[in-house]
Amino acid sequence: MKALEILKKYWNHDSFRTPQNEIIESVLKGNDTFALLPTGGGKSICFQVPAMIKPGICLVISPLVALMRDQVANLQKRDIKAIALTGGISSEETIDLLDNCQFGNYKFLYLSPERLQSDWVLERIKNLPLNLIAIDEAHCISQWGHDFRPAYLKIAKLKEHFPKIPFLALTASATERVQKDICQQLKLQNPQLFKKSFARENIAYMVLETEDKLYRIEQILSKNPEPSIIYVRNRKSCHDIAAQLNSLGFKAIFYHGGMTSKEKEKNMQLWLSEEFPVMIATNAFGMGIDKPNVKTVIHYQLPENLENYYQEAGRAGRNSKKAFAVMLVAPSDLQATKKQFLDILPDKPFLKEVYIKLNNYFRIGYGEGINETFSLNLNHFCQQYKFPVLKTYNVLQFLDNQSIISLSKEFSEKITIHFLISSKEILRYLSLNPSDENVVTTILRNYPGVYDLETPINTNLIAKKSGTSEENVVSILKRMHEKEICTFHSQNNDSSITFNEIREDELTINRISKYLEQQNEIKVNQFEAVQNYIADKEKCKSSLLLEYFDETEIKDCGICSTCLQKKKTLKKPTELAQDILSLLKKSALTSREIENELKISSEETIFALRLLLENHKVTINSKNQYSCI
Ligand SMILES: [Zn+2]
Repeated sequence: MKALEILKKYWNHDSFRTPQNEIIESVLKGNDTFALLPTGGGKSICFQVPAMIKPGICLVISPLVALMRDQVANLQKRDIKAIALTGGISSEETIDLLDNCQFGNYKFLYLSPERLQSDWVLERIKNLPLNLIAIDEAHCISQWGHDFRPAYLKIAKLKEHFPKIPFLALTASATERVQKDICQQLKLQNPQLFKKSFARENIAYMVLETEDKLYRIEQILSKNPEPSIIYVRNRKSCHDIAAQLNSLGFKAIFYHGGMTSKEKEKNMQLWLSEEFPVMIATNAFGMGIDKPNVKTVIHYQLPENLENYYQEAGRAGRNSKKAFAVMLVAPSDLQATKKQFLDILPDKPFLKEVYIKLNNYFRIGYGEGINETFSLNLNHFCQQYKFPVLKTYNVLQFLDNQSIISLSKEFSEKITIHFLISSKEILRYLSLNPSDENVVTTILRNYPGVYDLETPINTNLIAKKSGTSEENVVSILKRMHEKEICTFHSQNNDSSITFNEIREDELTINRISKYLEQQNEIKVNQFEAVQNYIADKEKCKSSLLLEYFDETEIKDCGICSTCLQKKKTLKKPTELAQDILSLLKKSALTSREIENELKISSEETIFALRLLLENHKVTINSKNQYSCI
């Protein structure tokens, strides 16, 4: 079948977006290929379509577990056989899954780079009839990139084993230096390069300085009632701002990593259906959202870097109609954010301390811990050792990048149980229900306190120790709960954590700490770029972004806040004062009302009003309304 027929049959699209077709053609010719596409540029189609044309399996390597699951679910929905091998899957299961791949006519195998570390996984992969190797987030292989993951370096090994299979490296962010590095590290042979410009001509990038962000949001949303996303830094702001906007009559809903998948799904649907057109979200909101008619994306706080900013802002205007990407900045933001930001960059001693305490917390002894998975409540862990939460989170993130641990930020359940009957009665129950015996005795052995009080248990660990699946453990417990043998409570937890290596304290830390400084430096530079994006009042905002992404053919956009400011011929304050006076002759107004009537900035209004006050032309009453004298 031809590429276009595949696209129509499985994805129901009629045409490719440039340069998708060129990339697919290059891959089909058997070339190593490098594709630099902005997020939302349809990266996955570039490997999924050619893999469907050729016989065999496409191997996709990605560091993002949630994204892999999302793509696998998406393929399965289209009746395409695909599986993902991520962390937290036991060796036996992995073998089964890989065998399935070999004999079960699978078309896609998604793999996290950590999986390539084990030689036996690599051995099994060598037996697979691969037709293409796609490396997503390819910038992770470069230590000059912002997201370096040493596990990516192992991918080059695949090139030795599969010299004739085309490699497709995909990334949404790569400077010239990183691009060259990717091609070298992956040992790509004469790679064909394809790039799509990061320019988004229909998005007006705005930097708005304001003391009262909520008021600005109210103004923006009143003018643009179409669907919008407001990005905030934390969960608390999600709730607060949604409540404030709802009280102002907007229909706002929120989304963050601390919600259960059910709640997330529900709120996502309410937003998609536009029953609630305003979504307040943390950066957990983003994966797989393809809502074309988002009119406005507002950033309530400063983003950490322009890579994230571009990606989040880019969710506006996918339908090519004019859209707005607004960054709200209060005068104190830059200093405060910079300080906060620098304060949470960990140094080597802190890295070491967190690593050791983390092992102690889960009672992992020296030389142990490999492939163990636990659920982690970050706040609880930090409270126990009096660690600052964000800085600790950064350490975990770094350990994850270095493949020491795998951190899943997804919601996981924390389950607590309490046995309500005596040990004698339990034995009687087990004699009647022998299939539950393994699980129940494992629980009793590991958690002797369950007779006395509500006890948190790790269902994953119980499953492993009793040789069954986690789902089975949960269903046994639920059944026992129904029979009033035990209580069963489940509650939200932050994340789950898997240890990929044995605990080696000094050895581990010394090996990875050299990368810590480098990553810290990259982060500082990234934040400086955000500062520059805000502070530069001369250059077009769109151009500033494109420059940051190393693009060379750049022209002013004509619609961003800087371009508009340049176009506007400023009225003199005395002229404005005259306009204000004639307005106030009709009725008393607040400075905001004046601002809205005359469509001028708050700075201009306040300056003109001050002139009028000083010259005793106007007066202000207790309601902050101005009137003529
Ligand atoms: Zn511009």
